[in-house]
Amino acid sequence: TEESKSLHVAIALTPGIGHLIPLTEFAKRLVLHHPEFEVTIFIPNDGSPMKYQKQLLQALPKSISTIFLPPVSFDDLPLDVDAETKIVLSLVRSIPALKDSLKVLLESTRLVALVVDLFCIDAVYDVSKELGIKPFIFFPTNAMALQLIFHMPKYDQMFSCESYSDLVEPIELPGCVPFQGRDIPDSVREKKSVTYQGMIRLCKCFSLAAGIMVNSFMDLEKGAFKGLMNQNQKQGEFDIPPIYPVGPLVRTSSSSSTHGSNNCLRWLNEQPDGSVVYVSFGSGGTLSSQQMNELAMGLEMSGQRFIWVVKSPNDKAKNATYFGVDSVDDPIHFLPNGFLERTKGVGLVVPSWAPQVEILSHGSTGGFITHCGWNSTLEAIVHGVPLIAWPLYAEQRLNAVLLADDLKVAWRVKENENGLVGRDEIAKFVKGIIEGEEGKPLRDKMRKLKDAAKMVLSPDGSSTKSLAKVAEIWNNQGK
Ligand code: UDP
Repeated sequence: TEESKSLHVAIALTPGIGHLIPLTEFAKRLVLHHPEFEVTIFIPNDGSPMKYQKQLLQALPKSISTIFLPPVSFDDLPLDVDAETKIVLSLVRSIPALKDSLKVLLESTRLVALVVDLFCIDAVYDVSKELGIKPFIFFPTNAMALQLIFHMPKYDQMFSCESYSDLVEPIELPGCVPFQGRDIPDSVREKKSVTYQGMIRLCKCFSLAAGIMVNSFMDLEKGAFKGLMNQNQKQGEFDIPPIYPVGPLVRTSSSSSTHGSNNCLRWLNEQPDGSVVYVSFGSGGTLSSQQMNELAMGLEMSGQRFIWVVKSPNDKAKNATYFGVDSVDDPIHFLPNGFLERTKGVGLVVPSWAPQVEILSHGSTGGFITHCGWNSTLEAIVHGVPLIAWPLYAEQRLNAVLLADDLKVAWRVKENENGLVGRDEIAKFVKGIIEGEEGKPLRDKMRKLKDAAKMVLSPDGSSTKSLAKVAEIWNNQGK
């Protein structure tokens, strides 16, 4: 009978470890707190190896299944195609296969929801409508960025500039700290760019979702969430679906893979408390060769201990390893002459990938130079590690504004007249965050956020309750 079939939720991913991690964490928390659900995660791919992705997926509980969709081809796209286009197309081109799989699920389970991340609501809307499954968005970043999505179509009409970088006045979203036009995410900053029109169309489609789960929490972004929810009630100008703050959903050190961890962790064990700065630009972030050189010199000049996840430099793109993670060439070759010898014992250089969660949760780690990817940001908050914000691409500059200007748990680096973050500034920030008096307010604020993050996920916490609301809706859907 229908009743005896299990309640089921389908999740369709897009490429990018920064999307896979929070969506699998969401699935894990759902089945842990609401064991009546089973989940199937659909993974589009272009045939590339996905080594780290597979490691992450191996550790999932039994009630979460994963299905790799047949590889799609990007052979027809220009070589320099931007990441957003490929991300969107990876799912768009997988829709027929996804639809077939969903039909199979519909026959054997009570499929109540289809969850997609931020790039795909328009791609799956027709399918979900046809099959009678409600589409939900899991938004893997923050409420401020979500507000911007709902405002972009209006800004498109309101501002006549070609690039938001030219705006003189700061932009202020309801309940949010003001930011400059140049901090708008890359894909919607330049009106003439190839991604712009498509992204504006996508922004308008966000109102099609039956609900939006956000990987952030009330105490972190009270103003931004209230702003979203108030506009939701006003109805009219904006059509904002119900919003559910369910974060911070991050891996814990016990659940994450320990790939290569021994070396880093053994080294960290030997360092004094709070003495090490961890340097990483996420799975996709890359620096130019000149910038990599400045960073090396800055770390060396600071005299502080560090773990640096290095990638081969790229002079054209700031997200050169988004689809691959691993650098093609050995990144160690690109370090300044003699750097490894001079920093021996003080610094540890790790090529391409490090066990980040374990590093951030280690007592020896005292600061984090981060590209402000939202998962990295949340992981730092959960472990109370103060930040040096060095945003590179996507919505990272917006995250940096939130961290530096609003929450005041980060210092943000500035580029000099050559477009580089200079070694002096790097050395000053690193020294300040590890041992300076000026770093104390940051450390104190971070500690408070860490406590708040723990509270919201406790049995009575606001994010736990939010998730329960979603589960209730899905439960009713299944009746
Ligand atoms: N990560 C990691 N080791 C690395 C680089 C990244 O474990 O060397 C993890 C990190 O802990 C985070 C995710 O990969 O969970 C990166 O997500 P984020 O949103 O910070 O950045 P993105 O890679 O999407 O730019």
